[in-house]
Amino acid sequence: AKKELMQLVGSQSLSLDGRRVEIGCNIGNPQDAKKAHENGAEGIGLYRTEFLYMDRTTLPSEEEQYQAYKAVLEIMGERPVVIRTLDIGGDKELPYMNMPKEANPFLGYRAIRICLDRTDIFKTQLRALLRASVYGNLKIMYPMISCVEEIRGANRILEEVKQELDSQGIAYAPDFEVGIMIEIPSAAVIADLLADEVDFFSIGTNDLIQYTTAVDRMNEKISHLYNPFNPAVLRLIKTVIDSGHQAGIWVGMCGEVAGDKRLIPVLLGMGLDEFSMSAGSILPARKQIQGLSYEKMKGLAEQVLKMKSAEEIEKFVAQNL
Ligand code: PEP
Ligand code: MG
Repeated sequence: AKKELMQLVGSQSLSLDGRRVEIGCNIGNPQDAKKAHENGAEGIGLYRTEFLYMDRTTLPSEEEQYQAYKAVLEIMGERPVVIRTLDIGGDKELPYMNMPKEANPFLGYRAIRICLDRTDIFKTQLRALLRASVYGNLKIMYPMISCVEEIRGANRILEEVKQELDSQGIAYAPDFEVGIMIEIPSAAVIADLLADEVDFFSIGTNDLIQYTTAVDRMNEKISHLYNPFNPAVLRLIKTVIDSGHQAGIWVGMCGEVAGDKRLIPVLLGMGLDEFSMSAGSILPARKQIQGLSYEKMKGLAEQVLKMKSAEEIEKFVAQNL
């Protein structure tokens, strides 16, 4: 079976009736990019750069970051590589930053909120990203966006970094895409407004489920309530995809749900353009998509969006493939 799957490495992720989607890989470091490539990834849908900052005693230098980003871009060649700017805070702490303890770290000082405050840290990362951009197909993604001001604030800093590089005569790719994660309900609700400001969306279901349902994604005691089939979550996902498409931008997903075989048919039917997942899930997902009809899954997704409970939806999908 493994051998059979490996034959799909170079093939496209195409449904029975010709709908083409992209299957990308989620990675945490350049070695993972090799694995992604070997497993037939059509791109990197999420590079979690926080691992560069963790398990050490100081911030990584611009040069160190540049080398890591360049390595991933070179491994992937012309394929798209979505690199997410720093997403620390919440469960990911950096002891050397001496951040004060918070009562609600998941609702606190984290990710883009830190970057817009500590612009020194953010600028160093953006400089490294821009310098690396000439080695491949870079796309920059901001995490934990909750409103339009954050996008504009981050883009303002990006512009400053570009001007700095220009004045120093340092080259960067002229036209890379800039997108955002949709993982906070407020962003999903106003996705139509945010779509005008960016080149793509990537839905982060890990956090989107947590914040939509008020269920801590790490809390075992309530894990039965953490359910991607929750109708509120599925409706938000559909809203985000439709809003992106109305504005003419592509919509991907890099949360765990993107690689969940129980939900891939529904996501395909909703029109998701890109699915980013762990390396081991890529070929099974491609095989699954190659066996599905997009038109039929569209109908399935429409049905699902009218249903009232997660249990009902999960059963219905399993029985109607
Ligand atoms: C997500 O929230 O779905 C996501 C992909 O980001 P992370 O798991 O790193 O929070
Ligand atoms: Mg997240």
